[in-house]
Amino acid sequence: MSKFLEFKIELDNFIQELNTRLDANNKKVEELLSIEEKTYANFVKPLEMMDEYLDHFFTPLSHLNSVNNSEKTQEIYTQSLPIITEYSTKLSQNIDIYKAYKEIQKNESDSLNDEQNRVLELNILGFELSGAHLDDDTKKRLQEINIKKSELSNNFSQNLLDATNEYEYIIEDEKDVEGLPQSDIANAKFEDDGVVKYKFTLQMPSYIAYMTYGKNEKIREELYKAYVTRAPQNAEIIDELLSLKSEMSKLLGYNNYAEYSLASKMAEDSKSVLGFLNDLLKNSKAQAKVELQEVEELAKRPLKSFDTAYYSELLKKAKYEIDEEVYRPYFEQSSVVNGMFDFLTKLFGIRFEKTDEKLWDEKAISYDLYQDDMLKARLYTDLEARKGKRGGAWMHNWQAHCLDEAGDEQLASAFIVCNFPPSSKENPSLLRHDDVVTLFHEMGHAIHHMLSSVNENGVSGVNGVEWDAVEFPSQFLENFAYEPHVLKMFATHHESGETIPDDMIEKLVKSKNFLSASGMLRQLEFSIFDFELHTKLYQGDEVQSLLDGIRKETALIKTPEYNKFQNGFAHIFAGGYAAGYYSYKWAEVLSADAFFSVIDEGIFDSKTAKDYLHVVLNGGASKSMGILFKELMGREPNPANLLRLNGIKQ
Ligand SMILES: [Zn+2]
Repeated sequence: MSKFLEFKIELDNFIQELNTRLDANNKKVEELLSIEEKTYANFVKPLEMMDEYLDHFFTPLSHLNSVNNSEKTQEIYTQSLPIITEYSTKLSQNIDIYKAYKEIQKNESDSLNDEQNRVLELNILGFELSGAHLDDDTKKRLQEINIKKSELSNNFSQNLLDATNEYEYIIEDEKDVEGLPQSDIANAKFEDDGVVKYKFTLQMPSYIAYMTYGKNEKIREELYKAYVTRAPQNAEIIDELLSLKSEMSKLLGYNNYAEYSLASKMAEDSKSVLGFLNDLLKNSKAQAKVELQEVEELAKRPLKSFDTAYYSELLKKAKYEIDEEVYRPYFEQSSVVNGMFDFLTKLFGIRFEKTDEKLWDEKAISYDLYQDDMLKARLYTDLEARKGKRGGAWMHNWQAHCLDEAGDEQLASAFIVCNFPPSSKENPSLLRHDDVVTLFHEMGHAIHHMLSSVNENGVSGVNGVEWDAVEFPSQFLENFAYEPHVLKMFATHHESGETIPDDMIEKLVKSKNFLSASGMLRQLEFSIFDFELHTKLYQGDEVQSLLDGIRKETALIKTPEYNKFQNGFAHIFAGGYAAGYYSYKWAEVLSADAFFSVIDEGIFDSKTAKDYLHVVLNGGASKSMGILFKELMGREPNPANLLRLNGIKQ
């Protein structure tokens, strides 16, 4: 029998089969709860594996719905979501399971291994963060808060969306669109009573196009003002959300929402997050000033907020513009993929072997992954754009490495999905360098999942990894896509066979780091604002004052008073990033730090690379990433390496 699941799915019977499985699971939960002497082996392990098997069954549907979307997959997927949600909500509120976990932790924690203890710890934390263990009145209030919160978040995005859609700016003078790329002009162009006009909106591609290339400063200011004053009614929603989050955190036993957010993250406490962000700020400021000066020299006047994108683009064009069409011939898809595999072989001693498995599309390929000549995992790649495939790129984990109830080893598997240009018999698929970076990024996630040696599925591979650390392995690998030694392994011209020249690689790095300190300051402004905002209850004008205070440190150009950035900060008020926006930079530091150790040790002779394989990749989520990182480097993360990666001199 194959070590891996077969990718097959029967859409017609799916819902019926799902219900049958969930019924069986619910019965199993009752059976398990009726055991007198509950232990890790007879209670936790079967529950954990029950989760794993449900993933095995469900993942092919969500995968297929994303890569071969059809009315049928949509229908089945939409039907199954509420069924799954109801099932898992019920499980996550089952207080008897929580009590059993606590009891097992008390009785067995000394005899269990790190992985098993981590499973208990994370499960118990999950229950406690949702308040399942509290009295009925508190639970009822928490439920009300949750419903209200999601309503408010939804209104927040709706208001933003409405405001974005309502606005348009019509340009009648052709001169005002001079300098914009032809495709943007074509998108804006329309005819009104036989007169050609141009319409710009606050939707991203349109807004960005004018702000970046539009030379009429008055129009830029108009658009900017419209953009940063969207949805003023969101100010009220912010107050309500902040107050509900504060109440919720207190009910759950935390002083504030920031503390609540950090309970499940790698960062230890508020002090370490703010210290980290403020240090980066202090160290990036001098270079950001130099960068601003350079842009202002070109503009021949002090910049205003609505000028920066425009003059930055002019400067970039003059200094570092990358012509994608010159680069593409060096990045033929299959040589990039095989080159990346060769690189991983040289770096970690792992090996990929193509299988002849038949999959959901003829362009999808599966590979067996070997570590030390032992079969370790299976990778599925589906890299080309086609009709019915969701845009973007992602890694999706399927099986997790573990030992099942009988003690038999289960191997891991994962999908990498991208949207690269399609190849045909006549034309190869030629990638942009950005695509190469994306492929390395997703591969970083995939090997994190597939190389796990952990025996408990709930903390194996990417399962159970903290939110602020999950991008560490992906960014780590992504950094190598700019490294000359690595690029030269596969970046050869698909016609002439010539290896990519050094100056072309150098240009890639410079272009990546263009105005990097200014970009850093901006991200830090968002991160510090988000985090501070959740450390105590801010209401009304206090929100604006907080932001103004932070901007004194982060903004080198004075932000106009009408700017109400917060009313559009959907990441934290309508997404999952509240008191977590710092995670981007946090994971970047881990990855930059480990990356430079490998570089400085000569890449392929690097001891850190071998340790990274054994500690981080084999280790999955068996311990907090904070502990794994310390085991890897023998010290705390060093933010100086993130500055180095961004070319920021101190
Ligand atoms: Zn990622």
